[in-house]
Order: sequence, then C-alpha cells, then structure tokens
Amino acid sequence: MTNPEVPIRILYIEDERAIARFVELELRHEGYQVRLAHDGPGGLALAQNEAWDVILLDIMLPGLSGLEILRRLAADGAHAPVIMLTAKDDSSDTVQGLDAGASDYLTKPFAIEELLARIRRVLRERPRPGSDAPATRLQAGRLCLDLPARSAMVDGEPLELSRTEYDLLAFFVSHPDQVFTRDEILNAVWGPNFYGDTGNVDVYVRYLRAKIDDVYNMQIIRTVRGVGYGLKRQPASEA
Ligand code: CA
Repeated sequence: MTNPEVPIRILYIEDERAIARFVELELRHEGYQVRLAHDGPGGLALAQNEAWDVILLDIMLPGLSGLEILRRLAADGAHAPVIMLTAKDDSSDTVQGLDAGASDYLTKPFAIEELLARIRRVLRERPRPGSDAPATRLQAGRLCLDLPARSAMVDGEPLELSRTEYDLLAFFVSHPDQVFTRDEILNAVWGPNFYGDTGNVDVYVRYLRAKIDDVYNMQIIRTVRGVGYGLKRQPASEA
C-alpha cells in the first residue's frame, strides 16, 4: 500500500491541546508524521508553506476559523485533502466546509478508529497522476519523471517543482498523445472537489513553461487553440 520509506504527513490544526495531543499520539502510533498547530493563523501558514498528505482541521479556532482557512487554501489552488472536525449539531459549518473544498468531516467527539478510517479513505481517493501507468519512469524527450520519487529531470538535472506543478506535468507526460480541456485538466489534477476556476490551469502551465521551457530552451506543453493543452511531441533525447 504505502511505501514505508515515504511517511504520510498529516497537519492537525486543533486548539484543544489535550485532544490534539491524544490524536497526535494515535496517529504517530499508526506510522504517520504529524505536525500540530494550535491556532488559525499558525495552521494556515503551515498548510500553505509545506506539503501535506492530509490536513485535519478543527472549525472553531482562535485567530482564524477553520472555514476561513479552507477558503484561503482553495483560493491558493490545489491543497491536501482536508478532513474537518466539527462541533456537534453544526451542520451549517459542515455544509459550508464541504462547499469550500473539504474532502470529509467528522463530528466531535469521534472515535479514533473512525478518524483513522477517514484518513485512509481520503488517502486512497486523492488523485495520483500516472498511478494507472505500470511504468515507474516516464520519458518525454529530454524530460524524465521518476513517479515513485515524484521528481522530474531535464537532461538528468532535477527540476524544483511544487506539488501541483509536478502533478500537472506528470498528468501531461502520462497522456502524451491526448489534448485536454481546462476542465478535464482541473478535474484530473486538482480533483473533482476543487473549488476554483480553470484559470488555475493557465497559471500552472505558465509556471511549468517558466521553469522548463524558458530554462532549457524546449517546449513541453502545447496550447491547442479553442481546446486546451497537451504534451508536445518531444524529439528523441540526444543522449
Ligand atoms: Ca476548537
């Protein structure tokens, strides 16, 4: 299932320290890496600045509510799946949270086994571009992707890509002969629950072009007028 050498990283934003500590210990016991944040602003900063596999988000938080954190993450673009932890009888928070892009929710107090099951479920369901391909390395001309390592290289030189940039690049390289609409790309890379518009696709294609095309004097992604984007057919590697 999970590669034990690549631990799953969970960010847990919760101001009730006793609960936070208890859940943290249980999660560590399951082999997850856990980072705690005890207020809204601190949690948002960690959520934005580091890569996570799952975010557990309390709704009632000092400084910034969980709902506001969700909205800001959604406005930023792709983010890790979020499981909201809501107070009992607060169905309006739950609905707003799901609308804002949360993957799931759990009502407090919850059984730890229930939380572990929800975490396993969102991990199973998160989009993993290229995971349907049996190959672990994908080559497109001078560009090479190492799928298990989630790394990309041009001429053997590693590229520094954000999580979303890598996912988008892996999506194109995994489907070399296809052209996709922005909606299809958004759905495949950002996931069906992503709360944002197709302008994100254009922005991230620009990022990739700036990091690859401009630097290595090549063209990776082609714009297909009136349709969307696709991988450009790559000349064979000179090596
Ligand atoms: Ca709270």
